[in-house]
Formats: sequence, C-alpha cells, structure tokens
Amino acid sequence: MHLEEMKKEIETLVLEKGFYNEPEDIPKKLLFAFIELGEASDAWKKGESEEKIAEELVDVIFYVLDASRLACPSINMDEMFRRKLDKNKSREYQYGEGHRRM
Ligand SMILES: [Mg+2]
Repeated sequence: MHLEEMKKEIETLVLEKGFYNEPEDIPKKLLFAFIELGEASDAWKKGESEEKIAEELVDVIFYVLDASRLACPSINMDEMFRRKLDKNKSREYQYGEGHRRM
C-alpha cells in the first residue's frame, strides 16, 4: 500500500469514528504522533515484542499521514517521499551529524 492509499484509508477511519478532522486539529494530531513515538520507545525499553514496537510505530505513521491530509492536502505524499529521499541521498556523508566529526 502506498502513502496516498493509506491517507485515504485513514480519512475513512477518521470520518467513521468521529475523530478530529479540522485544520485546527493539526497540532493535536502531531502531538499524538509524538505520544506514539514515546509509546514505541517505551515498548522497546521494556523489551516488548517486535510486533508491539511495530504497532506503535505504525500509530506514528497514522498520525503523521492524518496530519498531512489536513495540513498539505494538495501534496502527493508518495511523490514527496521520493523527492525527499532523493534530496537526502544527494547530501554529503553523515550530513547533519557534523558533531560526530569533532
Ligand atoms: Mg499506540
């Protein structure tokens, strides 16, 4: 499944379940993504199963894509993923981690 397909499925879920669905809800959705990152970290620290850790990481993806649906609706996230990956690939070795060379 591609990101744009996931966005559509998430939108359907949000509408069916009556979740937040307005542009002013974007900060909440991004906060929830952070909370899910914390849950993933906590699961890893507690030695929980890979299944549990992966489930929390998928929750992060859900909230990020849900926020993208409202924050930048005209952007195709599959195309953006490819463009950003290509951009990062074109950068220098250990870019953004200059502190590691000190
Ligand atoms: Mg969770």
